[in-house]
Amino acid sequence: MTSQRTRARMIERLRTQGIVDEVVLAGMNAVPRHIFVEEILASRAYDDVALPINFGQTISSPYIVARMSELLRASSRLGKVLEIGSGCGYQTAVLAQFAHEVYSIERIGPLLTRTRTRLRELRLHNVRLKHSDGLLGLPEAASFDGIILTAAIAHVPPPLLEQLAIGGRMVFPKGSQDQYLCVIDRNPQGYTETILDEVRFVPMLPGILKG
Ligand code: SAH
Repeated sequence: MTSQRTRARMIERLRTQGIVDEVVLAGMNAVPRHIFVEEILASRAYDDVALPINFGQTISSPYIVARMSELLRASSRLGKVLEIGSGCGYQTAVLAQFAHEVYSIERIGPLLTRTRTRLRELRLHNVRLKHSDGLLGLPEAASFDGIILTAAIAHVPPPLLEQLAIGGRMVFPKGSQDQYLCVIDRNPQGYTETILDEVRFVPMLPGILKG
């Protein structure tokens, strides 16, 4: 149920769902998704569903992870990436397959502790995790070629826009009740925003939770 064959089937399904970036598909084929969920849910890890990961949060469905990764990569090499909302770390691990460096911020301390252990087991040496409020971004590591938010927000905080490199791209779920995937590209003239698919994410929340 959690074998390489199950993972290969997930990749084939992603292709039929319209994911075409082979680098993203190879990245998702390399990451064992079942270790990111509770053992009791492991048999459903490769289904196309979001699953609970404690603290009222969810691991996004494989399709959403693939779609956002594909949008973020935009078919080019990714240098430094910032993820806001590490959660269980699955999207983080996928990003680490094709970005040079991944910084990921999570506000819930105990969730991050488990994610840290998991990512260490996978020996992902190009990932840096931080317990912080992602709404502030990570000025000490900026600028970023890609910024991905895995929780929904109505308006992007200015520090995040500033930390996006020129030529960089941000992908996130925009809105509160009705949410849409949104892409912001930064070019020398400013920012351009594109609204895409309707989606459903947990909300981005301010501040941090200690364990
Ligand atoms: N990519 C994750 C998605 C987890 S759900 C996964 O696949 O598991 C979204 C995550 O965003 C939650 O873990 C939530 O705690 C976190 N989050 C919400 N607001 C945040 C903020 N201001 N800073 C950092 N993380 C935040």
